[in-house]
Amino acid sequence: MSKIRILPEHIVNKIAAGEVVERPASVVKELVENSIDAGASSVEVVVRKGGRELIRVSDDGEGMSREDALLALSRHATSKISSEEDLEAISTLGFRGEALPSIAAVSRLTLSTKREGDLAGTQVVVEGGMLKDVREVGRDLGTTVEVRDIFFNTPARRKFLRSTETELRHITQVVTELALAHPGVAFSLSHGARKLMVLPRRRGLSERMEDIFGKERMTKVLPVSLKERGIEVEGAVGLPELARRSGVPQHILVNGRPISHRNLSHAVYLGYGELLPKEASPFFVLSLRIDPRAVDVNVHPTKREVRFSDERKVFDAVVRAVRAALQTEALAPHLEYPEVHPRAREIKEALEKYISKAQQLPLSLELPRHGEAEEGRPVPLWQAHNKYIFAQVKNGIIIVDQHAAHERVLYEEALRNLSGERPRSQHLLFPAVLTLSPVEMRFLEESAPLLEALGFVIRVLGKDVVAVDAVPAGVGPRWRDGELFSEIVGELAEGGTGAGLKEKLAAVYSCRAAIKAGEPLSPKQMQQLIDQLFATEQPFVCPHGRPTLIRVPLEDLDRQFGRR
Ligand code: ADP
Ligand code: MG
Repeated sequence: MSKIRILPEHIVNKIAAGEVVERPASVVKELVENSIDAGASSVEVVVRKGGRELIRVSDDGEGMSREDALLALSRHATSKISSEEDLEAISTLGFRGEALPSIAAVSRLTLSTKREGDLAGTQVVVEGGMLKDVREVGRDLGTTVEVRDIFFNTPARRKFLRSTETELRHITQVVTELALAHPGVAFSLSHGARKLMVLPRRRGLSERMEDIFGKERMTKVLPVSLKERGIEVEGAVGLPELARRSGVPQHILVNGRPISHRNLSHAVYLGYGELLPKEASPFFVLSLRIDPRAVDVNVHPTKREVRFSDERKVFDAVVRAVRAALQTEALAPHLEYPEVHPRAREIKEALEKYISKAQQLPLSLELPRHGEAEEGRPVPLWQAHNKYIFAQVKNGIIIVDQHAAHERVLYEEALRNLSGERPRSQHLLFPAVLTLSPVEMRFLEESAPLLEALGFVIRVLGKDVVAVDAVPAGVGPRWRDGELFSEIVGELAEGGTGAGLKEKLAAVYSCRAAIKAGEPLSPKQMQQLIDQLFATEQPFVCPHGRPTLIRVPLEDLDRQFGRR
């Protein structure tokens, strides 16, 4: 009894048509998808020469009968749908019945397979679409498909293949995505004898992510978990410091299917809001579960595009899921505080102190009743643990990291000064006299113009002695009798004077000269810092990409207090 049927024409006509075999990675994708659909618990991929010479995908899935093994290679033959209604709610990765015949048409393909309980397995050989051999073979339960010499009979398409490295990159990407989408399946990928990926079976996405992206990176992500209106979103978003201009992993999975979706990516960015540095791409892996009837995967032959019956709803869920992960994790007492956020504990402590303090305030000190400070009236500021400044803003509160904030202020000021603006300097009553190492001295001589542009006034007194007569205004108590200068020169001298020195100098200077955690600030200093911060170009991230402030929307507080 065969499971596979040839789809009747009226169904075929409803299926998005087109070529699916573009390059070796597309073959890997289709074969691995078949293995997953077959219920495999382990999938092994071996390629040679970037997949040009060989692609072999082996699984321990349910296998096929002899009859099905032959049928599977016919066009529009599938076991996954049988009626038009089935098209409305696809729960498998495949459904078109086109992949195996399309691959077999442009390669030398050998399929071997065995079902549980069958005495023998079946091996089918097809070359350029022609059946060459069918025979019994001994093998374990499961299916192996070997694809050799892809495009051997279509030289024009063979010519379009890129370098081994490029093809391999695409293949790795395909395996990575499907592995993220199916943490319960073990995967391995080898290039010849070289093992590129070995991923054991995992219980969930977060463990799989750790295997793929490494423990280190996982300390810089926040878990995402949201369930609303029939949509489940799980996964992780990276802290802003993981964001880069390009090359950052970004994955969206819908019902176990990796997809590309402009609007959903956009929703992620929207969730970050101003936390994201300009033009930076954040790290994210989001896995969505939605009723398959609300997702149309029959849009494009490669099945990477999907349409949602209610896109707005999905979009909103993603924005909210990302926002919740980034902004309010410290607020929800029932959530596990992710150890992964390096400052989660501090933020939580600060916040709890804030809340309990607010509760203790005498009534006359209550914050303005209507949620916003009136025009012109100073907003009350409160410093917690000599580290965080709490301030009321429109529709919520912000918590400012005093060090990160000041770093941002000094960084932008330093960059302006280094590109020719006149620095604000402050003359020292007593010049600092400092002894430097020979390397530091050489560095100083070469970079004296930059240091002066920053606002330092330096005199060389001897072979290894300098005096600093003036310092950039705003350095304040961090000057520490010149120790600040020694630190900056020491740190930069190690790297030497090369390209990017200006930015490095600005970064090192701002980090060292910024207000530290632990410094008590007067109300006036806090106000000044916050004013300066909001006058910068990128007030929401420090030069290292960490947030300078966290916003807690009033609506979140209202929700936490059961007001809504
Ligand atoms: P589709 O996946 O869209 O159904 P394919 O051409 O990829 O079409 O595969 C055709 C059929 O062959 C599948 O429906 C399935 O029944 C069978 N098949 C393919 N690969 C495997 C496999 N690895 N294990 C078991 N059955 C498979
Ligand atoms: Mg398939």
